[in-house]
Amino acid sequence: MITRFKNILEKLKTINLDLENLRKNKEKLSKKRPYSDTLHLSFDKQINILLNQKIELENLEIENPLKELNESFLFTDQVTSSQIRQTKPLQEEKVSPQDKNVLAFLKEMPKTEIHLHMEACISKETLIKLMEKNKVKCDHEEISTLYKFKNLQEFVKLFLFILDAIKTPEDFEVIFHNLRSYLENNNIRYAEVFLAPSRMIANGLDFNEIAQTIDYLSSECSRSGGPEIKYLIDVSRTFGAENASKNLQKILKLKRHNIIGIGLGGAELMGPARDFKDVFAQAKAEGLRCVAHAGEDDGPWSVRDSVLELGAERIGHATSAIQDPSLLEILKNRRVPLEICLSSNIFTGKYVREAKDHPVRQYFNDGLICTVNTDDPEIFDINLSDEYFKYYRHLDFSISEIIDLNRQGVYSTFQNTPANMWNGFQKEIHNLREKYAL
Ligand SMILES: [Zn+2]
Repeated sequence: MITRFKNILEKLKTINLDLENLRKNKEKLSKKRPYSDTLHLSFDKQINILLNQKIELENLEIENPLKELNESFLFTDQVTSSQIRQTKPLQEEKVSPQDKNVLAFLKEMPKTEIHLHMEACISKETLIKLMEKNKVKCDHEEISTLYKFKNLQEFVKLFLFILDAIKTPEDFEVIFHNLRSYLENNNIRYAEVFLAPSRMIANGLDFNEIAQTIDYLSSECSRSGGPEIKYLIDVSRTFGAENASKNLQKILKLKRHNIIGIGLGGAELMGPARDFKDVFAQAKAEGLRCVAHAGEDDGPWSVRDSVLELGAERIGHATSAIQDPSLLEILKNRRVPLEICLSSNIFTGKYVREAKDHPVRQYFNDGLICTVNTDDPEIFDINLSDEYFKYYRHLDFSISEIIDLNRQGVYSTFQNTPANMWNGFQKEIHNLREKYAL
């Protein structure tokens, strides 16, 4: 076992070295036309081939139960992990009186959110509560350390730890409570939330019971005046097309009031979109809505495939799409909304390292449909109101432009009558602008 770890580590080191060299050479290319140069694309392709190999190696261990994850395996990765960095917490930045008004306005502004993972809405406190409830040995210090992850491997470790702490469908009541508080604290009136059941099914949970529980909780929530919550079930790339198809058959058997569609998530470098063509075709034929994560960890070709091959109705992230102007035309002409997750992209650091460099500014200027999302709020310790503020602070979005992003968010939801919601929002926003003199 130890020898195998050593061999894997050796191979990973070699790949990291090659990646470093490729990146250095890519840096030397002309900066004047960084996104249209085909040379950049060929570098990206080579880099992605290596990243694919790397993920395959890493996944040998990631697929094992968490207890078998060896600490020595969680090495510091030159290419991805060292780029993961937190954006400075807002309270540490200089906040002027005008900024205070903007922050208060953004907090109170009614919103929608459409790219949000349920498992990532579990706070440290909720995780401890769950573990105590399930009588799992729970070391508070260890959990605090897990939440201070510094690289991609540690992030994966935390995510798997959270999934493994979920033991019964009733645990979703605790998680749902956390999700609802997050939405209400940010005045999010409507959310479409991802749920990835593969790992939980592997851990012995019954998918039907999970689905019934979250469906009931969601109906009760909106009945009691809380936010409306719909679900998109993640048919993960990580476990392949066959597993995705199995999950789809399970979804189709459900009486699904609040489960409205599927999303293609998981390790983007491991599962090319076109492998999931049949799964998406069947889901669409059965009336499910279909979205895909793409261009978060792979190049623009991944976004192109998701739109043209899968017919994804929205794209999560699309950060690398900026490298391919003809793809931007396709996204614009087909009016495919982009679920932008600014802070998340900086955390993972694959295509953007500073908020000011995020391509969302260009996407918005070019007339693409952009929406503001958090992706993993509790894990990243971020929230939607602050995300909007980052557009104002770092990307020079005016208040009117921010309101337009909000409008695009409402119209990109899968509600039947988004215009009704937006009419209500507009009145509230008008009053809030007066209240804060904005
Ligand atoms: Zn996501």
